[in-house]
Amino acid sequence: MASALAGELTCVVCSDFYSSPVMLTCHHSFCLMCVRKLAKGLERRHKNTVENHDETTADVITCPQCGQETSLKEKVVDDLPRNFLLQNIVKGYLKDNGKEGRKMSVSEFEGKLVLCDFCVGSSAAAMTCVECRLAYCSRCLPVVHPPRGNLGRHTLRKPEVEEEERIRCPQHGETVTIYCSSCQTTICMQCDRSGRHRGHDRSDLTHACQATKGDLESSIHGLNERNSEIGNFVKRLSKACGTVQVNGLRLVEEVHQQCTELHQLIEQRERSMLGTVYREMEKKLCVFEDQITVYKGQQRKGEGLVQFSREALKEQDKAAFLQTVHSLITRVRETTEDRPALTFPTRPSFENLNLD
Ligand SMILES: [Zn+2]
Ligand SMILES: [Zn+2]
Ligand SMILES: [Zn+2]
Ligand SMILES: [Zn+2]
Ligand SMILES: [Zn+2]
Ligand SMILES: [Zn+2]
Repeated sequence: MASALAGELTCVVCSDFYSSPVMLTCHHSFCLMCVRKLAKGLERRHKNTVENHDETTADVITCPQCGQETSLKEKVVDDLPRNFLLQNIVKGYLKDNGKEGRKMSVSEFEGKLVLCDFCVGSSAAAMTCVECRLAYCSRCLPVVHPPRGNLGRHTLRKPEVEEEERIRCPQHGETVTIYCSSCQTTICMQCDRSGRHRGHDRSDLTHACQATKGDLESSIHGLNERNSEIGNFVKRLSKACGTVQVNGLRLVEEVHQQCTELHQLIEQRERSMLGTVYREMEKKLCVFEDQITVYKGQQRKGEGLVQFSREALKEQDKAAFLQTVHSLITRVRETTEDRPALTFPTRPSFENLNLD
């Protein structure tokens, strides 16, 4: 995991560690190269709309972070104040941690801070010339500083950042030695004498550093407290995750229990309803089977009487025939009339069965 500090040291334009960061008026910092590209991008759009426009850079740069505009009138990108504090912290971080896991020597890193003075895109310089006091990338060097004639006798060195880069007054070019806390800026002796800061709260840099270090330390203290507050809250959130799991699982168990009881009730009910249906079916079958037995008996009896009557008709003994024929006729008639209406004893459907 990238350290929390690395995020503070990354330029939002190129997503890389700051290289020669400069500050816009909104106090947001970007690599010098990135700001140059931003200015050029604006210029290109400018030239498309305005013909014969001679300017090489735009008048304003819009901050990619907050949208505030920094005026560049009478200024070039390279005149923007360098953020040396940021540059030094990046340098120290890369020295201790390396870039993408690879340790970087300070000289290697500083080499990247020196830019070619000729390229449009400002490549990292490969060489600097002691006599010309200019830096060249590997592509520009053979073109603008060929090793022939006078130039051939110049001393070329690996690029190095000046030992002690001091912040100079952008107006007077002098090293700044005074801090004006009313303007929150460092100023040079000439600024001081100019009277622009008359009546302002001014002090020497050492004194001002001590005072503002105290300010920063107490601010850090406040942020530290806020951070540990957040840390505690994160702990409480994580603990809440555990509680959510415990409570959720408890509820799952309860649902299981309730559903098991419901299942048991449903099975019980199913058994009792099926019992009712089976009993009713049994009852109906009994009734129908009884009727079948009764009516089969009647049919058999009737058929017997018909056969007997046919046999009687064949009787040759007339006296014997006449002696009993009347009672036989009566029996046949009575048997025929005695039959009740042929209706079902009950319905074969279960429509009216009450299952409750
Ligand atoms: Zn950048
Ligand atoms: Zn900004
Ligand atoms: Zn170059
Ligand atoms: Zn030279
Ligand atoms: Zn000055
Ligand atoms: Zn001032």
